Amino acid sequence: MADFSKGAAWIRGDIKPIEEATIGVTDWAVTHSDATYDVVPVWEGAFFRLGDYLDRFEASLAAWRMEIGMNRADIMEALHAMVARSDLRNAYVAMVAARGVPAIPDSRDPRDCANHFYAWCVPYIHVVTPEIAANGARVWLDETHRRIPPESVDPRVKNYHWGDFTQGLFAAKDAGFDTVLLPDGAGNVTEGPGFNVFALTGERVVTPEAGVLHGITRRNALEMCEEAGLQVERRALPLAELLEADEVFLSTSGGGIVPVAQIGERRFSNGSAGPVASQLRARYFERLAEPRFRTEINYGA
Ligand code: PLP
Repeated sequence: MADFSKGAAWIRGDIKPIEEATIGVTDWAVTHSDATYDVVPVWEGAFFRLGDYLDRFEASLAAWRMEIGMNRADIMEALHAMVARSDLRNAYVAMVAARGVPAIPDSRDPRDCANHFYAWCVPYIHVVTPEIAANGARVWLDETHRRIPPESVDPRVKNYHWGDFTQGLFAAKDAGFDTVLLPDGAGNVTEGPGFNVFALTGERVVTPEAGVLHGITRRNALEMCEEAGLQVERRALPLAELLEADEVFLSTSGGGIVPVAQIGERRFSNGSAGPVASQLRARYFERLAEPRFRTEINYGA
């Protein structure tokens, strides 16, 4: 019996244990980071906001001229079958479009590549552990590594160009911090490895609009802020404004809303999770259970 306890993968119609899943070493996804992907959470047996994640994935496919030969219904069928087979009730579910390899040997023309889709799921991932998130994350603002400019690689197309984040994470970890935020070249904060950022000052919440992935959890956060009567602004967020905020928090499909206790030397809420961010965090987990956002998975299929 195949062991799916560590997760499952769907590759060319085959579902296999995650440890057995492979793609070719010459795939441009590997040699050129030429892949676009998306990640939808599964929570207590249902996809969360699946339609929103699929909308974003389809927009990414179009932006990067990926033709995977599968429509939305095909993708949904693959994801459902894979998660059902894994039997995971809480999962991190990745869908990937890879450039593939040129059908014509030695071609360097991306139009010759045979693009393909694959997917994989593993037990739910928290980008910041729940223990750290509950007390507030300690975040390094890495001014030596700027976020890749959006004119070079559009961050709204979710991608594997993580060289900037990885170097930033090394800097953060070396300095004893949990994770990292990267600035742009104009003195604004952008995002971090797997999350968007928000600054709350009084009743006003600001989150960067340009040069970042438009996270689905960011959308949840903005909706929850509006429900809570806060004024929401999507615009450039200067580093100085970030550091002067009353509270800062992160948003990610890998764990929801993460309060920030500290950025570099600057401590928020006496170095703990702020009250508004903590409330939003709790509210996000309630949202995960709301029927309007859920697409149930038929595990018996
Ligand atoms: N920004 C980046 C660079 C990300 O990789 C992610 C998610 O992985 C996010 C932001 C948050 O997006 P979402 O809320 O859709 O998970």
